[in-house]
Amino acid sequence: MHLEENPQGKTEESLDPQDWESMKNLGHRMVEDMVEYLRTVRERPVWIEPPPEVQRQFQAPLPTSPQPPQNVYDDFRTLVLPYPTGNIHPRFWGWVKGTGTPLGMLAEMLAAGVNPNAWGANHIATHVETQVLAWCKEMLGYPLDASGLLVSGCSMANLVCLAVARNAKAGYDIANDGVRPEAARLAFYGSVEMHNSIQKAVELMGLGRSALRKIAVDADYRIDLHALRTRIAQDRAEGFLPACVIGNAGTVNTGAIDDIASLAELCKKEELWFHVDGAFGAFAALAPESKHLVRGMELADSLATDMHKWMYMPYEVGVAFVRNAEAHHASFSVPGAYLTRAERGFSHSPMPFNEYGVQLSRGFRALKVWMSLKEHGVEKYGRMIQQNIDQAAYLASLIDATPELELLAPAPLNIVCFRYVRAGIPEETLNAVNQTILLHLQETGFAVPSSTILNGRFALRVANVNHRTRREDFALLVEEVVRTGNGLLALSS
Ligand SMILES: *Cc1c(COP(=O)(O)O)cnc(C)c1O
Repeated sequence: MHLEENPQGKTEESLDPQDWESMKNLGHRMVEDMVEYLRTVRERPVWIEPPPEVQRQFQAPLPTSPQPPQNVYDDFRTLVLPYPTGNIHPRFWGWVKGTGTPLGMLAEMLAAGVNPNAWGANHIATHVETQVLAWCKEMLGYPLDASGLLVSGCSMANLVCLAVARNAKAGYDIANDGVRPEAARLAFYGSVEMHNSIQKAVELMGLGRSALRKIAVDADYRIDLHALRTRIAQDRAEGFLPACVIGNAGTVNTGAIDDIASLAELCKKEELWFHVDGAFGAFAALAPESKHLVRGMELADSLATDMHKWMYMPYEVGVAFVRNAEAHHASFSVPGAYLTRAERGFSHSPMPFNEYGVQLSRGFRALKVWMSLKEHGVEKYGRMIQQNIDQAAYLASLIDATPELELLAPAPLNIVCFRYVRAGIPEETLNAVNQTILLHLQETGFAVPSSTILNGRFALRVANVNHRTRREDFALLVEEVVRTGNGLLALSS
């Protein structure tokens, strides 16, 4: 504790250390430990479940008195660090989880040290974020005069973009009036493979879950354009107001990419807002051999993506872009006397980010993006993304070449869904066997894929946004799945 006597004889304290030297030493130790931890990540199990005695440590009473920072760090080392989520490991492929980088980690420390509130006042964080957004538009081929902001992730980006879509398409001042009972009800459209954050957004916007039409997909899990057109026409005939189509640039189940260019054309003809959820897939635009997959994305009225997934940045950082900056601003600029912008000085805001999204106080997410893009350069990111796509194709080819394995969906991007299979085994048994294989992989810490259900079949699901993965990791995975499956069937027969 840092005590000082003021002239009134009262002690005043701060939260700064009394001994700056020992804080500096502790910081050095942390950096040493963590860089080493990242360097050796491959040598440890992917995931370790926190044992009950460790879990119990997190029901400790509220600390009332101080203890040395070194002790607190020791607690971190014994209670937190040994039980990783696993997503930084080369054999973690569950859900769509990013890996982060060493410089990204250090950048987060710097951001917390400077600790700006990046709501958009006249300070350097505003410029860093503006720069990062401009780079991001350039990377994605999105119009440079579009508005945008960094957000917590693609869920928030979808909400921000779809709220603008709602306000722009309602035909009355829905932001002010709320949903008018007598007005035609708005309808939003996307495929059944849409991410559930879209559902949450539509619900939060007060439109009701049923306002989101889930359109069937084709055999490649892409939205069925004919079914979409039919539903829009039917809705119009029934007095609904079709407002917005959500296109998937990389679905979470299989990595399917809707026909983005055709959706853009359809929306233009039907005068609908076109939103693209490109949480991870949008960045396929960086890979010269794959960018054609997301062609048309640049035509969207709004675009949501994530940089903590396929841009390998530490959590959290997502991006929301809106083509019509005015419509974007109109949706989120709510006057507040305490927030008045000034001609000069601190409150002269070059870019008031708080007027473009939900958050007022905002962290310095932009710093890690700025530093990472400078560290590697965009071409390296393009190569990494292509590497992940090629690795997924390699895994798919191994599966094709292995009689005991079966692909359960096309793997057009970086997601591979497959299962262990044997002739003459009932579907129910296969589902159970594959479920057990998944648990075995996870609980032994060998690898962490996740799962999904495709046409009633339990699928092992590998999503590769991992810059540490090597092809040999997939060869090992295939071997382990076959070995485990064979063992299980030998046991049960
Ligand atoms: C991950 C994901 C989201 C949600 O993004 P968060 O960063 O987790 O909020 C939305 N859409 C798709 C397709 C995703 O993969």
